[in-house]
Amino acid sequence: MKQKLSWQQALQQCVTSLDALASLIPAAAELISSAAHSSFAFKASRRYLAKIDPHDARDPLLLQILPQAIEMQQNSAFRLDPLEEHRYNPLPGLMHKYASRVLITLVGSCAINCRYCFRRHFAYEDNRPGTQGLEAIYDYIRAHAEVNEVILSGGDPLLANDPLLHTLTHTLSEIPHIKRVRIHTRLITTIPERVTPELITALTHTRLKSILVTHCNHPRELDDDIAAACNTLVQNNITVLNQSVFLAGVNDNAETLVALSEALFACHILPYYLHTLDAVTGSAHFDLPLEKQRALYTVMQEQLPGFLVPKWVKEVPGEKHKTRM
Ligand code: SF4
Repeated sequence: MKQKLSWQQALQQCVTSLDALASLIPAAAELISSAAHSSFAFKASRRYLAKIDPHDARDPLLLQILPQAIEMQQNSAFRLDPLEEHRYNPLPGLMHKYASRVLITLVGSCAINCRYCFRRHFAYEDNRPGTQGLEAIYDYIRAHAEVNEVILSGGDPLLANDPLLHTLTHTLSEIPHIKRVRIHTRLITTIPERVTPELITALTHTRLKSILVTHCNHPRELDDDIAAACNTLVQNNITVLNQSVFLAGVNDNAETLVALSEALFACHILPYYLHTLDAVTGSAHFDLPLEKQRALYTVMQEQLPGFLVPKWVKEVPGEKHKTRM
């Protein structure tokens, strides 16, 4: 019987070399660009790679992780910091953009590097809080009574170890105005082994409500192990939501988007947001015309019950909330 990997072992086995990618997915070999890889390194978990058709260069899962030459074409509408996050960065590792929520960039890496990621050029080296930095962040949150929710975001916060997450949720729970902790992660859908008893304890041992937001763009990313991991989360009263991005070549047809919502629900996950692509340098080839997005969203509304239709949103720098489309 095949022995189950720990999440740390699965993480160690993530593929990071272009040669390994080409040998696992021969169809990718001719498209791989080392220049794009130098700009934003290729990385993916073995589980994610195993779902790609090795002979299909247009596989929607492959396109999400494949460094291609097209990323290097200049497009003035696409920028290094499309959401202007540097304007909302009062402390290293802390973002305070929306009134009632703050966001901590706890970790600077992920188990999968998504080519369209709006933080692909983010200065993580200036935004790793460390122990001292976290103390400063807690002081900031204590001093801002309008904040009731703390978001842990990417890199992937679930790459932090369980004792750190345990301490963090404990410390936040002692701040009276904090009600919730929300974790944005792509680890559950790429390394579901991450759902350990220790993680469940770290997320449930306090009075805080925990919300976990997965990131999945295509129904083929999901599998039975992911469903089981999400079931464990839900059984422990952790709300599990998903956010997706409209991506050309990946989910730019109604059939895929409807199937994605259905597959998420089958995995105990509720669709939350469907984002218009953030215009980050290197991702223009994923851009989908607005009218096409509107047409796809209309079909989703027609074919899905309301609770399976994610909110279609766009992030506009300077706005006090996400913009509904
Ligand atoms: S932060 Fe999220 S979207 Fe960005 S590379 Fe990591 S997993 Fe992908």
